[in-house]
Amino acid sequence: MLPLLFTLISLPYAPNALEPVISQETIEYHHGKHLQTYVDNLNKLVVGTEFESMPLEEIVAKSQGGIFNNAGQILNHNLYFLQFKPYTIDQSSIINDQLPIIKAIVRDFGSFEAFKAELEQKGTTLFGSGWVWLAADKDGKLVITQEPNAGNPVTKGLKPLLTMDVWEHAYYIDYRNRRAAHLQSLWQIINWDEINRRYTE
Ligand code: MN
Repeated sequence: MLPLLFTLISLPYAPNALEPVISQETIEYHHGKHLQTYVDNLNKLVVGTEFESMPLEEIVAKSQGGIFNNAGQILNHNLYFLQFKPYTIDQSSIINDQLPIIKAIVRDFGSFEAFKAELEQKGTTLFGSGWVWLAADKDGKLVITQEPNAGNPVTKGLKPLLTMDVWEHAYYIDYRNRRAAHLQSLWQIINWDEINRRYTE
């Protein structure tokens, strides 16, 4: 049997660590079943193609159809799951305004609150399934993009930094139809050191 080319990422926190923002049950379905399925699908689809030995970001930039959809969903979910940190009740010191990413957000959106409002609004109004992204252009200027289905801002030459998954599977167990409430709650578990690392690397 051939070795698998793509593997399911391990989560850097316990499956219940994001509660009550994201439940253990949602993590078990979202990471353990949805993401696993994209990994399994891509491993079948790339056999014998030019994409077999390409990094995910390059596949997403160059492919279409089923390979794009599954590679995109793996890249998107890897960035999504790795941007979180365990929930803590004390949210008073969650934002370090000396981080370069936070300074850039204030510079490009006017205020941190304005940035949060725009990202939530673009996530709430994205019709159907998809992703809303904070991304940076080649000069480090920040933008928010709406991407349908498996979309990722790498296809526009942008660097993806932070994302909110607005597919119903991301929130329906915990929030039912209340997408906006789910997006609003996600701020409590964003690991800004990780977002800053992506921005500054
Ligand atoms: Mn998802």
